Amino acid sequence: MIEEVDVVVIGGGATGAGTLWDLALRGIDAVLIEQHEPGYGTSGRNHGCLHSGGRYLVKDPELALECYRENQILRQVAGAAIEDTGGLFAHIKSDEQDYVRRWVDNAHRIGLPVEEVSATEARNMEPILSSEVDRVFTVPDAAVDPFDLIYMNLQGAVQKGARFMTETRVKELLIRDGRVQGVLAEDIRTKEVHEFRCRAVINAAGPWVGIIASLAGISLELTYGKGSLLVHATRLAQRQINRLRSPSDGDVLMPGKTVCLFGTTDIHIDNPDDTVTWADEVKSLIEMERPIFPDLPEMRVLRTVTGVRPLYTPGAAGTAERDANRGHAVINHGARDGVGGFFTIMGGKLTTYRLMAEQVVDEVARELGVTVACKTAETPLAGLSIGNARNFLETKAICECEQVTEDDLLTAAIFLDKVRSGGIRRMTRLGLGPCQGTLCIWRGALYLYRKGLLTDQECLTFIEESLDERWKGNRGVLWGDQIRQAELERGIYRGIYGSEGD
Ligand SMILES: Cc1cc2nc3c(=O)[nH]c(=O)nc-3n(C[C@H](O)[C@H](O)[C@H](O)COP(=O)(O)OP(=O)(O)OC[C@H]3O[C@@H](n4cnc5c(N)ncnc54)[C@H](O)[C@@H]3O)c2cc1C
Repeated sequence: MIEEVDVVVIGGGATGAGTLWDLALRGIDAVLIEQHEPGYGTSGRNHGCLHSGGRYLVKDPELALECYRENQILRQVAGAAIEDTGGLFAHIKSDEQDYVRRWVDNAHRIGLPVEEVSATEARNMEPILSSEVDRVFTVPDAAVDPFDLIYMNLQGAVQKGARFMTETRVKELLIRDGRVQGVLAEDIRTKEVHEFRCRAVINAAGPWVGIIASLAGISLELTYGKGSLLVHATRLAQRQINRLRSPSDGDVLMPGKTVCLFGTTDIHIDNPDDTVTWADEVKSLIEMERPIFPDLPEMRVLRTVTGVRPLYTPGAAGTAERDANRGHAVINHGARDGVGGFFTIMGGKLTTYRLMAEQVVDEVARELGVTVACKTAETPLAGLSIGNARNFLETKAICECEQVTEDDLLTAAIFLDKVRSGGIRRMTRLGLGPCQGTLCIWRGALYLYRKGLLTDQECLTFIEESLDERWKGNRGVLWGDQIRQAELERGIYRGIYGSEGD
């Protein structure tokens, strides 16, 4: 089947979803193509910090300012995805003292509001902090739910006439006379091929941008940094807590909905699909918790999450991942490589996804002769009608940990173009809580089956794929309560349902 559209966006992370929303607001006809489901990539595998910029104050004040500005904008336009947790930067006695002075100076220089509180007051606010903490500052950090953010952008774009396709992988760019003319994309299950004819293609494929660029014969100088996080079973802090030192591994504890995340590591990898967390990484993360959160290593860890940072290092091959530029890059491949109508947007932060989308759509709009300016900084995105407490009390519960109801599953299933475990999980949070799906995956699958949204075979596949996905994150943290939980899960799914999974 051949479809005509102005712009094809490749990748359903925050950047791609934000780009689709921006295009839709400017009246540009667009389709987004995602190889798995929205939020599958790095956007669904991070801390979920809406950075205030504090983390980058000394190393990259420009990025810090960019984060602070976007933080303020997103609170206005994407409030439903944000929890105003506030943040603390906590210095421990053994860390470099002079760093605090440079950090405070730069905060004043860029206008980031930071305020010192006494160490005692900070420990009253967050009892998880070590008695080794000597200086603490408040900052306007916040928590952002990346899945809500992505689906809110998609929802807004769809309401303005844009489309998105999931489980569809771009395999080929159609190029003629030095211009991109379209893309070929394949359904990853049925292998059906879709052809889109378009005037421009935006490569927002996160860690896979290099693979997409190579379809046009273009080489991008990229390195990949893998970062792993520990997901603790309860909300052990109410605010984002950052270690006040030069950015390093294991600096951030981030509360997010019912859990809290600690991380991250930063390990060079060669393949953007390498998201396995090694046992050594788990051990080293636990050791990193001790100096600033001495009780944390004893607290239950539910799972690990691993994301990949693509770092664009033109002319700087061999740069250590931690030292590479963490800002973003917009590449017009017409100007750079002689392939007109082809653009890449990459790097950056979840916090800066809106700005990244604005900048790449500005370039595309110029090329298409569209003069409508960006409106995403002042157009509020509607929240998802999923997972609110009122809804939980009024309809039947499917997942008690994350308060997911039958209505939530139905809303997600109707919105998604394909009803699959990954999309349902990311949109509703089914199975993400402390029981890790033990009591809710089968209930959710059976509900969708009874509603006629899954066939019997699809229902089994839904369960198997959900369990496989949980297992990827659980297998590195099986000790204490978590191994008991895993045994219960195995008993239910193997014993009662005869599941063949791991
Ligand atoms: C461990 C870690 C922690 C982080 N913490 C934070 C944080 O707390 N705050 C913050 O602001 N930033 C954070 N970041 C950075 C942030 O997560 C990323 O910058 C951001 O999520 C990137 O989004 P993206 O949309 O560009 O890429 P992605 O989310 O990776 O999206 C790319 C999408 O493209 C799809 N795709 C790839 N190839 C194809 C193809 N051939 N066809 C169709 N689709 C394709 C993928 O499936 C994927 O869904 C963190 C990063 C890491 C690694």
